[in-house]
Amino acid sequence: MATANLDTRFFGHPRGLATLFFTEMWERFSYYGMRALLLLYMISPTGLQFDKSKGAAVYGMVVSLVYLMSIPGGWLADRFLGQRKAVLYGGIGIAAGNFCLVVPSVEMFYFGLSLISLGTGLLKPNVSTLVGSLYAPGDTRRDAGFSIYYMGINLGAFVAPLVCGYIGQMIEWRYAFIAVGIGMTLGIVQFLLDSKHLGEAGLHPAPFASAAEAAQQKRYLWLGSAFLVGIPVLLATGIVPATVTQLADALGVLLLVVIVAVFAGVYFGPWTSAERKRILVIFVLFLVASIFWSSFEQAGSTLNLFADEKTDNQLFGMPFPSTWFQSLNSVFLIALAPVFGWIWLRLGSREPSVPAKFVLGLVFVGAGFLTLVPAASLTITGVKVSPMWLTLTYLLHTIGELCLSPVGLSAMTKLAPAQVVGVIMGVWFLATSVGNYIGGRLAGFYESMPLDTLFGYVGAFAIGAGLLLALFIKPLRTMMGGVK
Ligand code: GLN
Repeated sequence: MATANLDTRFFGHPRGLATLFFTEMWERFSYYGMRALLLLYMISPTGLQFDKSKGAAVYGMVVSLVYLMSIPGGWLADRFLGQRKAVLYGGIGIAAGNFCLVVPSVEMFYFGLSLISLGTGLLKPNVSTLVGSLYAPGDTRRDAGFSIYYMGINLGAFVAPLVCGYIGQMIEWRYAFIAVGIGMTLGIVQFLLDSKHLGEAGLHPAPFASAAEAAQQKRYLWLGSAFLVGIPVLLATGIVPATVTQLADALGVLLLVVIVAVFAGVYFGPWTSAERKRILVIFVLFLVASIFWSSFEQAGSTLNLFADEKTDNQLFGMPFPSTWFQSLNSVFLIALAPVFGWIWLRLGSREPSVPAKFVLGLVFVGAGFLTLVPAASLTITGVKVSPMWLTLTYLLHTIGELCLSPVGLSAMTKLAPAQVVGVIMGVWFLATSVGNYIGGRLAGFYESMPLDTLFGYVGAFAIGAGLLLALFIKPLRTMMGGVK
């Protein structure tokens, strides 16, 4: 049998990459299928009939928690489960969660969303770690492997709004969650049948260095589980009464505490001054990425509402569901990713530095929002605008994503001291979590603020932050100490 690192059966890559490609494709299908409908379903008169600010609060919590949970999810796999079991249990949680959403009960709705958050936290970071473990250190195919994997993500993200959005908006909201659950189930079956191609990867957790360490990690496990199970129970039983908005506010505070704790913990480690400077760069990139995602991830919140309420959703006279706009990001990404790979390669030594690419990311995402300002002004009189506006916005957003997302991911692994690479990957997901939280909650302003003002502020803030970052490109490059 070919060993993993000599295996070239999947487009020159190990066969196991196909297993992970399809697992993540189905997981993203389920995530983006659910996300496309979540806010619309909550606020619709034929759905849960929440008001917009409550819907935005629940939405912001869910999309933030799915990424926040990848920090404990990654840790659980590393120390107790191994990645393989984590992916499997995560997938089961996601599928079960979506089937719960089909039940017409608000309690089941919240329970299902909790399962989805926990399941995604278990699956998403660990399936990425498994991709990395297919390649021996120094295998030059690693980056290309991740690019192929990113295509899997976007294939799922592309199809999901088309299928689930159609079912949800044109037939019945809750039937769409059946499709979502079936998709994840197919992903699990595929993973089980095909995991033989993963060899030994992710079968076992990392062994404990000592009995004392094992005891300490187990204490964390009990504490963490008590927290994750206890809080929902206290809330569901009403022992701790809280409104959805109060809970969302509390999550905001928790995110702040996590950021401070993680960075303080990492910064005050036993580092050389060069390493400490790189950690500061990671912190700056983290802040920038959080701002970027808080604009970009409005795809499922404010932009979704704009598509639903203010856009004339017709193509050549044929009406289409507003959630279909959410496929555009993936279409553009699949088309443009090779172009960007080529551009960076062509630029050679003139390729922009990581901080410079982050500036570009912010400027493009900001420009996407500024594009919508005139469109939003037109809608004030009640007219519905052409779908071209949002299409242009998503094109600009995707260009921004290509400048920032893959670059940021690999920069994290290069800038982090080796002992804390795992934690720093968690930091990257934390930026997505923070961004999703802010982006989700901004939908709460959708009605209370004129839309052109809201989009104008978001765009100007992103571009302003980009220009501010531009002033620091040089010192940041120096602090990176030769890391490219
Ligand atoms: N679209 C990518 C994914 O779903 C990245 C999302 C993000 O990090 N905000 O994996």
